[in-house]
Amino acid sequence: MEINLSQPPSPGLSLPARLAKDVAIPVSSCYQCKKCTAGCPLTSAMDLFPDRVIRLASLGQTDMLLGCRTIWVCASCVTCSTRCPNGIDIAGVMDWLKEEAIRQGKAVEQPAVAAAHGFFLESLRRGGGRLSEVDLMRRFTFFKLRRQPDFKELWENAKLGLALFKRGRLRPTGPPALRCRHEIDRIFQKAGKKYYLPVFYFTELMGLAMGHSGAAGWLARHLVDPRPLLQKKGWLR
Ligand code: SF4
Ligand code: SF4
Repeated sequence: MEINLSQPPSPGLSLPARLAKDVAIPVSSCYQCKKCTAGCPLTSAMDLFPDRVIRLASLGQTDMLLGCRTIWVCASCVTCSTRCPNGIDIAGVMDWLKEEAIRQGKAVEQPAVAAAHGFFLESLRRGGGRLSEVDLMRRFTFFKLRRQPDFKELWENAKLGLALFKRGRLRPTGPPALRCRHEIDRIFQKAGKKYYLPVFYFTELMGLAMGHSGAAGWLARHLVDPRPLLQKKGWLR
């Protein structure tokens, strides 16, 4: 991507302030030592190197950043963040930019990567903070089948999945949810995600079935209120 830094900053000068407020990342303290870029394993596929991303972020060049390929190529390996002498979380900036591009409905140059990013987060949310590889693979496979079916690749992946399953490396049901599942919901809620499917927790359903007086109160705290559905089924009054 061609950059002309002599251009005046776009009206998005609030970008450093937003990054500081949303994710507490002080991009303005970057002094362009380029240690982040020197350690990044994926620069060959990027159109903007990580140090350029941080420089453009501190200049408020939001549009350029939201339209670049780099944010989708970044694998969130965090090498750059650990190398930065100023403690700037470059990988965190990349993640924030991905989310912002999705929020603003920007055309994504790498739709498969964007889809995988969304499936990963959704699988994590549904798994209560734990990732189910099977769920992630299922979602991504259907996405690819709809867009660009490659049956040879599908067959190879199926063989690999079966081999992993036989060795006990894949759980069809995914790992058990974390106990602090409400906290996971709150993190996603804070990130501005909108969900419409109610999630039920086994312990709450047990409490409901046993007539526990606090069951309705617990259900009221859910990110997506499950009470209307339970009332419709006659399981909650
Ligand atoms: S390592 Fe840190 S200070 Fe150096 S260029 Fe990258 S972001 Fe800036
Ligand atoms: S997190 Fe992204 S930008 Fe940073 S080193 Fe890894 S791939 Fe490169």
